Amino acid sequence: MQSFGYLDPADADAAIAAAAAPGGKFIAGGTDLMQLMKDDVEAPTRIVDVEKLPYGAIEANGSGLRLGALARMSDVAAHPAVQRDYPVIAQALLASASPQLRNMATMGGNMLQRTRCHYFRDTGFPCNKRNPGSGCPAIHGENRLLAILGGSEHCIATHPSDLAVALVALDTSVELQGVGGARRTVALGDFHRLPGDTPQIETVLQPGELITALVVPPSAAARRSAYLKVRDRASFEFALVSAAVALEMQGNTIADARIAMGGVGTKPWRLPAVEAALRGQAATPENFTAAAGLAVEGAMPAGKNDFKVKLMQRTLVRALSTVAA
Ligand SMILES: Cc1cc2nc3c(=O)[nH]c(=O)nc-3n(C[C@H](O)[C@H](O)[C@H](O)COP(=O)(O)OP(=O)(O)OC[C@H]3O[C@@H](n4cnc5c(N)ncnc54)[C@H](O)[C@@H]3O)c2cc1C
Ligand code: SF4
Repeated sequence: MQSFGYLDPADADAAIAAAAAPGGKFIAGGTDLMQLMKDDVEAPTRIVDVEKLPYGAIEANGSGLRLGALARMSDVAAHPAVQRDYPVIAQALLASASPQLRNMATMGGNMLQRTRCHYFRDTGFPCNKRNPGSGCPAIHGENRLLAILGGSEHCIATHPSDLAVALVALDTSVELQGVGGARRTVALGDFHRLPGDTPQIETVLQPGELITALVVPPSAAARRSAYLKVRDRASFEFALVSAAVALEMQGNTIADARIAMGGVGTKPWRLPAVEAALRGQAATPENFTAAAGLAVEGAMPAGKNDFKVKLMQRTLVRALSTVAA
C-alpha cells in the first residue's frame, strides 16, 4: 500500500476542500476503500475522514425518508419506519455484506463502492476502468458475474450495490455539497454513469463533492415492496441477479409499478418499459411473464453470463408474484 496522509476535518467545507485537492479522497466506513488501497487499486495520498460530520441522521415523515450519507447500513435496516414504509430498502440492506460490515458501512459509501469485477481488483491484469486504455480482459474472459445491460466495448462491469437498486426503484435523489458550499440535487437514476468509452468515470460527482443525504419520496408503492436477491450462496455474497419491486394495487389491478434490477447492469438498472407494461394490468402470471420479457430487451450477454438473461426474467416474475400476492 502506498503511504498516505490522514485528515480529520473540523467541518464539511474543510473536508470538501481537502478532498478536491489532487490526491484527496473521502473515507467513511472504509469497508471498500481500505481494501482497494491495500490491493493498490486505489492510491490516494490523503484520506479525508468524514465520519464525524453531522450527516448521520435518519428522518422519516410525511415528506418521505431522508437518509444521512453517514447513516450506517445496520441502523437504516433496523429503523421501524424503513421496515414499515420502505421494506424493499430494509431487505436490500439485510441481503448485503455481513452484520459486521453493515455496522461500519454508510449510505454514501455504499453508493460509491467499486465493482467486484476480478480483473479490476487484481492489478496483475489490464483493466480499462482501473487503467484507461489498457483493455478489458473480461469481455472475452471470466464474465460470469458481469453485466448484460449497459455495457460497452470498453467495460461490462456490474454495479455491485443492492441498496442502490432499491433506492433507484423508489425515485431517490442524492443531495450533494461541493467546493465553496455549492449544493445540488441529482436523481439517483442519473447519478451513476454508463461506462461508454470512459469506464473510469463512474458518477456525475465533481472533484471534492460530498454526498450529504439520500432522499426517498413517499409512495403507496414503496409500502408494498420487496427485494429478491439470487446469489451463489445464501449470505455474504454479491447478486447474480436481484429485483427491487414496488407495487400499488387496486384490488387485483396494478395501479403503479416501480422496478429496478441488480447484478445485470453497469449501473442500478431501472426498468421503465416493464413498469409501463404492468400499469393498469391484472396481477396474473401471464402478465408478469410478458412484462419480464421486456426487461431483457437490448441484453448483450458475453458468454459465461448468458444464463442471466433467463435468470433475470425468472427473478422478476417471482418478485412480482410475491409483492402482488
Ligand atoms: C466482504 C464484503 C461483502 C460485501 N457484500 C456486499 C453485498 O452483498 N451487497 C452490497 O451492496 N455491498 C456489499 N459490500 C460492499 C459494502 O456495502 C461497501 O463496502 C460499503 O457500503 C461501503 O461503505 P463505506 O462507508 O465503508 O465506504 P468507504 O469504503 O469509506 O468509501 C467508499 C467510497 O465512497 C466514497 N465516499 C464515502 N462516503 C462518501 C460521501 N459521503 N460522499 C462522497 N464520497 C464518499 C469514498 O471516497 C470511497 O471512494 C461488501 C463488502 C465487503 C467487504
Ligand atoms: S469489465 Fe470493466 S472493470 Fe472489468 S476488466 Fe473490463 S474494464 Fe475492467
